[in-house]
Amino acid sequence: MALNIVPFVSVDNMMKLVLHLGPERVMTEIAGYIEEDFRRWESFDKTPRVASHSDVGVIELMPTSDGEMYGFKYVNGHPKNTKEGLQTVTAFGLLAEVQTGYPILLTEMTILTALRTAAMSALAARHLAPQGATTMALIGNGAQAEFQALAFHAICGVTHVRLYDIDPVATEKCARNLSGSGLKLTRCASAEAAMEGAQIITTCTADKQLATILTDNMVGPGTHINAVGGDCPGKTELHRDILLRSAIFVEYPPQTRIEGEIQQLAPDHPVTELWQVITGAAMGRTDARQITLFDSVGFAIEDFSALRYVHDQLKTLPYSEPLDMIADPDDPRDLYGMLLRAKARAA
Ligand code: NAD
Repeated sequence: MALNIVPFVSVDNMMKLVLHLGPERVMTEIAGYIEEDFRRWESFDKTPRVASHSDVGVIELMPTSDGEMYGFKYVNGHPKNTKEGLQTVTAFGLLAEVQTGYPILLTEMTILTALRTAAMSALAARHLAPQGATTMALIGNGAQAEFQALAFHAICGVTHVRLYDIDPVATEKCARNLSGSGLKLTRCASAEAAMEGAQIITTCTADKQLATILTDNMVGPGTHINAVGGDCPGKTELHRDILLRSAIFVEYPPQTRIEGEIQQLAPDHPVTELWQVITGAAMGRTDARQITLFDSVGFAIEDFSALRYVHDQLKTLPYSEPLDMIADPDDPRDLYGMLLRAKARAA
C-alpha cells in the first residue's frame, strides 16, 4: 500500500477479524503482546493520559512510543450514556511509524479496548490470583463484562462466573451472551451473594462517584480483586479499608495515583508496578492468604500492544480498507500545487 494510503479498520471489519479468529484467541494473543511490551517497559515513552473532564464524563488521549512506532488512543468515559442509548466507553486509535511520522493504521478501538482491557486483567490475574482459582464474581455486567469473563476463562482457567449488576437486565444480557461459552454462570441478587466461593472478584461498574461496590467485610483472605471500573478522579469502586489490607499492583503509578482506587490513599502508599512482576524484578502474590488488588485504569502501552497486534493481523487478513488520509504531493514541497492541479482536473 502506498505510504499516503492508511489501512482503516472499521467497526464492521474489527468484528469480522475478531469473529474470524475467535474472541478468546484474540484476547489470549493480545495478552501475549502486552506481556512482550511490558517486558521492555523501559523502552517506552510514558505519560499519564491527557484527560479533559466535564460534569458528565471524560475524554482522554493516550499516547506512547517505543522509538520505532508511535500510538495513541482517543477514548471517552460517560457513565450516564447508556441511559441515552449510547456507550459508556468508545474509542479509536492510530499507529504511526516514527521514521517518517506517517500513520500505518487507523482503527476503531471500542471493541479493541474491551478486548485489551480483559486481556490485561487476565494477564495480571495469572500473576496474582491464588493457585487453582476457578470461580470469579463479576460485578457490573455492562459492555466490558463478557470480555472479562471470556478472557479469565481462556487465560486463567476460570470455569464459574457469578454475575451481579444493580440492573438485572444487564445480568440477563450477560448470561445470555455467555451461554454456550463453556462457563458455568450463576445470576446473583447482590454483590455479597456473587462473592460466595469466588477466589477472584472483578468489579466493572460505571458510576461517576466514589462508589462502594465492595466493603471491607466482604473480602476474605486469599482473594484477588480485579478493579476495572474505578479509572477517573472521583470515580472509584472499593472502600478504602480494602486497599489498606491489600497488596496493590498497578500499571503506571503516576497515572494510577490520579485515576485509580489508590487516589483514596496517601501519595506515597506503596504499590508494585505490574511490569516488574512480569519481568521477575518484583514479587507478585507472596502467600495464599494475601489479598491482591490489580488497580486497573488502562495504560497507553496496552493500547499500543493492541494496535500492534491488529497491524500484524492485517499482514495476512483482509479486514481493512484503504483510507486516503495523508496528503502526499509528488513534489513534497508543492502542497498548494496539488490543490491547483485538483482544481484544473475538476474544471
Ligand atoms: P457499562 O455502562 O456498559 O456497564 C456498567 C454496568 O455497571 C452497568 O450495567 C450498570 O448497571 C452497572 N453498575 C453501576 N453501578 C453498579 C453497582 N453499584 N453495582 C453493580 N453494578 C453496577 O460500562 P462498561 O463499558 O462495561 O465499563 C465498565 C467500567 O469499566 C466503566 O467504569 C469504564 O470506565 C471502566 N473501564 C475501565 C477500563 C480499564 O482499562 N480499567 C477499560 C474500559 C472501561
